[in-house]
Amino acid sequence: MIDLSRFPRVNLCHQPTPLEPLPRLSEQLGGPRIWIKRDDCTGLATGGNKTRKLEFLIGEALAQNAEIVVTQGAVQSNHVRQTAAAACRHGLACHALLEHRVPNTTDAYEASGNVFLDHLFGCTLEYRPAGLDMNAEAQQVVDRMNAEGRRAYMIPGGGSNETGALGYVVCAQELVAQAAERDMRIDWIVTATGSTGTHAGLVAGLYAAGADIPVMGVSVRQPRDRQVAAVHRLAESTARLLGAPGLPVEAIRVDDGYIGEGYGIPAPSTIEAIRTAARTDAILLDPVYSGKGFAGLLGLARAGFFGPDDNVVFLHTGGAVALFAYENAFQ
Ligand SMILES: *Cc1c(COP(=O)(O)O)cnc(C)c1O
Repeated sequence: MIDLSRFPRVNLCHQPTPLEPLPRLSEQLGGPRIWIKRDDCTGLATGGNKTRKLEFLIGEALAQNAEIVVTQGAVQSNHVRQTAAAACRHGLACHALLEHRVPNTTDAYEASGNVFLDHLFGCTLEYRPAGLDMNAEAQQVVDRMNAEGRRAYMIPGGGSNETGALGYVVCAQELVAQAAERDMRIDWIVTATGSTGTHAGLVAGLYAAGADIPVMGVSVRQPRDRQVAAVHRLAESTARLLGAPGLPVEAIRVDDGYIGEGYGIPAPSTIEAIRTAARTDAILLDPVYSGKGFAGLLGLARAGFFGPDDNVVFLHTGGAVALFAYENAFQ
């Protein structure tokens, strides 16, 4: 067990999240055996992967006596919605900068799904055009608030720094324990990878725990080389935080074949993956992240990448609230 007790932490997550088989999908594919780790069921405001990161980020914000957290994301950011919810739970204010990162959006995209919930949680919002360094923009807002005597705490986009990645160190430990309980070998973990904290935390946690399970990150935004470098940077610094020596870059695996036209634009394979997961095992994926991640899983399985008896765990990172903002993509 990795000792995380020195890091400030609050309780936000229903954990452990279930590890469940997907029998109908596994049968339809004719192998491998597909499992799903239900981080869409973390229990905070419709769930998702940011909940685990926020246990440590909000913990640190409270330890620093903050009164407001500031973060950023795309307009339909699941991270902003979960941060706004976590702030409510701990009596903090929340302010978010939303980037118009996705082109040609609908009215539903601008107002429904996560944006509707941001407002419901009382999060204050301001907007930015596409292409800025959004963490730098948010840091400027934090600096201005602090200069005005407010105690603001910066949470980077996706909650992806070493502190947030600790949430996925916890998840790595959970998966290792769940596999041991079932006397089951996990051959692969597959998940969507974006701002990198999930992928990096998982790899760092597995590495620090001495568990040799490969993680395939399905990129939702960046080409492979850039995503590998970004995930490696954070995985290595997170592993160091845990007292492990540097982490080899070979431990970072990324497939960039399922991005389609870009971030936030579902590809035909994304829509097919969302329909397949819904109609085989009644799993709700999202059009920006988990739909692309699952499309990667299906593509790899159909191409014979996995062994027929492998146990492949899809880490479901949540996001289904955004389906309501993307209804037009299913027509
Ligand atoms: C943020 C997010 C991801 C990506 O996780 P990162 O840690 O940013 O790489 C995947 N799925 C969903 C639903 C998300 O909201």
